[in-house]
Formats: sequence, structure tokens, C-alpha cells
Amino acid sequence: MLEDIRKILFHESTILSRLDEMAHEITTDYRGKDLTVIAILNGSFIFVADLLRRIPLPLQVDCLGVSSYHGTKTTGSVNFRQTTVAQLRDRHVLILDDILDSGHTLHAIQERLAQEGPLSLRTCVLLRKQVERAREVDADYVAFDIPNEFVVGYGLDYNEGYRNLPFVGVLTEDAITRGMK
Ligand code: 5GP
Ligand code: MG
Repeated sequence: MLEDIRKILFHESTILSRLDEMAHEITTDYRGKDLTVIAILNGSFIFVADLLRRIPLPLQVDCLGVSSYHGTKTTGSVNFRQTTVAQLRDRHVLILDDILDSGHTLHAIQERLAQEGPLSLRTCVLLRKQVERAREVDADYVAFDIPNEFVVGYGLDYNEGYRNLPFVGVLTEDAITRGMK
């Protein structure tokens, strides 16, 4: 698996110290509020686990499974793997996702969750790609901005592989070609 990595963008220690800062900010912003965190699966599972353990607030967590990517390209259509979500009325909601790219995913999720009538709705992402977005959407909390490259690791996949790498990195051309077969 490691031989498929062309370069590492963020080592685990870099990610964790940035999460310390972000968790502090989120803790300050949501202290005294009824907070529900919605984790967008699968890509955010490691990010969510590391971030939430740094937030000492009595929050609730629910997960929402969505998919939009196939290989290294966004498909533009967002599939929800479940039809019901947690009770969000009278709750402050924070969406946690792995990466903001075209914006299709976060846009669709925001629209869906807004229907539940939360007191507030914000988003937090590990990575934000510097691209022109198909949807006008931004994240309220961003751990790292990255150039327009396809990344894997720390939860992010290439055709469901590489999620368990402890860092965020870029695949070799060879690994990308191999994964297409
Ligand atoms: P968007 O809908 O904003 O284009 O993309 C959001 C979703 O696409 C993310 O939640 C993630 O699952 C996937 N995605 C976008 N960019 C990348 C990337 O560089 N690497 C990986 N592995 N997934 C990505
Ligand atoms: Mg994904």
C-alpha cells in the first residue's frame, strides 16, 4: 500500500495538532448549546473519531451515508444510503465531512438537513480543495486547504481502498491506473 503513495501532504502528527486547534474553536462556539454532529460516511470516520474526542461537550452524534464519487471523478449526483435522519429540531447541527470538492455533496446534505428545522446548521471539513465549485457552498471550519489533486488516506478512499492510511497523500500514476481495472 505504501509503495502506491507518490507524496504525503499531511502526516498524522500534523493532522492531529491542527485538530487540537479546530476542536478548541468548536468547543468555544458550541459551549452551552444543544449540539448534534452529523458525520458523513464513509470518508469522515477517522476524522470524526479524532476530532470529537478533542471536544469536551455533551454532544450527540449521528451518521449519514452518502456517495457521489466513482474512481477519481465526482459524478455530480449524490446518493443517500438512508432516508431518515436524527431529530434535529431544537438542536444546533454541525456536519462533518472529509473533503469539500465540487460542493455537490455538502449542498445536497445541507438541503436535506435544513428540512429538519435545526436551530443552526454549519459544516466542518478536514480538507477543502482549491477549485471552482459547481455549487455555491463553503465550510465554516476547515482543517486544511489543498490544491486540486486527488488525495487518499485518513478515511479517504480510491475505489474503497487506502482509507486506513494514517496520513493524507497522493497516489502514483501507476496505482491510479491499476485501480481502474
Ligand atoms: P464533492 O461533492 O464536493 O465534489 O465531493 C465530496 C465527496 O467526494 C467527498 O465527501 C469525498 O468522498 C469525495 N472526494 C472529493 N475529492 C476527493 C479526493 O481528492 N479524494 C477522495 N478520496 N475523495 C474525494
Ligand atoms: Mg468518499
